Amino acid sequence: MAGNDAEKLFDKKYTCPICENEFTAKTVKSGKARLLKTEMDLRNIYEGIEPLKYDVILCPKCGYAALSRFFPTVTSVQEKYISEKITPNFKAPEDEGPEYTFEQAINRYKIAFANAVVKVAKASEGAYLSLKTGWLCRSYKESLDAEAEGYREKYDHIEKMEKDYLKRAYELFIKAVQTEDFPMCGMDENTVDYLLAALAMEFEDYYDASKLLSKLITSQTVGHRLKDKARDAKEVLAARMKAAGIEN
Ligand SMILES: [Zn+2]
Repeated sequence: MAGNDAEKLFDKKYTCPICENEFTAKTVKSGKARLLKTEMDLRNIYEGIEPLKYDVILCPKCGYAALSRFFPTVTSVQEKYISEKITPNFKAPEDEGPEYTFEQAINRYKIAFANAVVKVAKASEGAYLSLKTGWLCRSYKESLDAEAEGYREKYDHIEKMEKDYLKRAYELFIKAVQTEDFPMCGMDENTVDYLLAALAMEFEDYYDASKLLSKLITSQTVGHRLKDKARDAKEVLAARMKAAGIEN
C-alpha cells in the first residue's frame, strides 16, 4: 500500500474522559477514503488507505485507549480501574510520524485490548475490537512485499494473528448476542447474524452458518443488499461443505 495516508488525515481534538488531558489523534478526513469493496465477512477495503489504522484513540498521558466509537463513554468504576491499572504502567509510544505503520497501529489495538480487559468491557466491545484487529492483520498481511526476505514467515505469523483475533471475535459475538440488546456496535440484529454466519464459516461451524444464512434469506425484515450477501455466502458455504464431504 502506498505510504501517502498523511494527506488524507487530520488531527482531531479529543478530551480524555479519564484524565481530562486534551490531545489530538490522527483521523481520516471524511470523504477521503473511497470504498473499493466489501469482503464476505464485511471487512471494507478502501483505495490507498487503511482507515482501521486510525480507529483506536489513545490518550498519550494516561494510556486510556478505545475504538473511537467507545472512547468517550466510561463509567466511574471503569475510570478507577484504568487509572489504577493502566496509567502507572503506561509509556506513551515514541514519535509516531505523519502516519501509522501497521506495527504501530496493531500496538495501539493491543493497548485498547488491555484497557478493555481492565475496564471489564461488554462482550460486544471486545468482539468488535477483536474483529477489527483481525481485519487489520489481514490488511497488513496483504500489504507485504512478496519479494522481500523472510516474506513467507512474516505472512504466516500475521495470518496466525488474524485467525486468533477473528476466533476471539466469533466467541465474543456469540456471547454478546446472548446477553446484550441490539443495535450492537452500530449493527442491527440481521447484520450481526450475517457476521456470525461468516465467522462460523471461517471456523468451519458449517451447520451454524447454514442455519443463520437460511434465516436471513427467508426473513421479511432483511434488506436486499444483506440478503444478496447472505445468498452469495450460502453458495460459498455449499461449495465448502461439498469439498469437505459434509451433507448440506
Ligand atoms: Zn487520559
